[in-house]
Amino acid sequence: MSKNLSPACKLCRREGEKLYLKGERCFTPKCAFERRSFAPGQHGRTGSRGGGSRMGRESDYLRQLRAKQRARRVYGVLERQFRRYYEIALQRRGLTGLNLLQILESRLDNVVFRLGFASSRPQARLLVAHGHFTVNGRRADVPSMLLNQGDTVTVREGSRKLSYFKELGDLAEARTSPSWLSRDSKELTGAIQRLPERPEIDGTLNEQLIVEYYSR
Ligand code: SF4
Repeated sequence: MSKNLSPACKLCRREGEKLYLKGERCFTPKCAFERRSFAPGQHGRTGSRGGGSRMGRESDYLRQLRAKQRARRVYGVLERQFRRYYEIALQRRGLTGLNLLQILESRLDNVVFRLGFASSRPQARLLVAHGHFTVNGRRADVPSMLLNQGDTVTVREGSRKLSYFKELGDLAEARTSPSWLSRDSKELTGAIQRLPERPEIDGTLNEQLIVEYYSR
């Protein structure tokens, strides 16, 4: 009997690697990718990412496309918005690729995840959309909201009586938070100290290929 696979796990199989979209489950033997690492269908094993013979012949375009799609899936961003981020990144000073990654990292749902207030980005996105957080004291329920240095993210007063948030202090404490953020797990609040440097961002993302994709 076929297993009912979640959309997130299907993305991992499509990408041919673990994207860690389901929080703690991704680190257990229940991870669907651990059971089978390729996409279904006749091309699942031999597709351009599946380790088949086409791998060596993969075109530059395909590698650029894959890098872009992978980053989109990791951060849960639709194509139109991703392109918009690229355009903002182009206008900023410095390296476009790094600018793009910093923009992605400064999304509210990502910051909630990085603060350890959610076990995955998809969960963070839901929590934000349900209005459980404030930014600088004001209710914020748009996951794609871009934050700046000095912005503070806090669990809303009214949400703290929910069982998830009652236990969140201990949960968050057990999760590491990057040094570009400050966090007070007891008070369920955190702030952006600065934008992340490249070594503080997922090393498996290839921003150079993404820039090449959009500069074609
Ligand atoms: Fe699913 Fe997470 Fe495993 Fe990906 S890494 S297949 S999202 S459990």
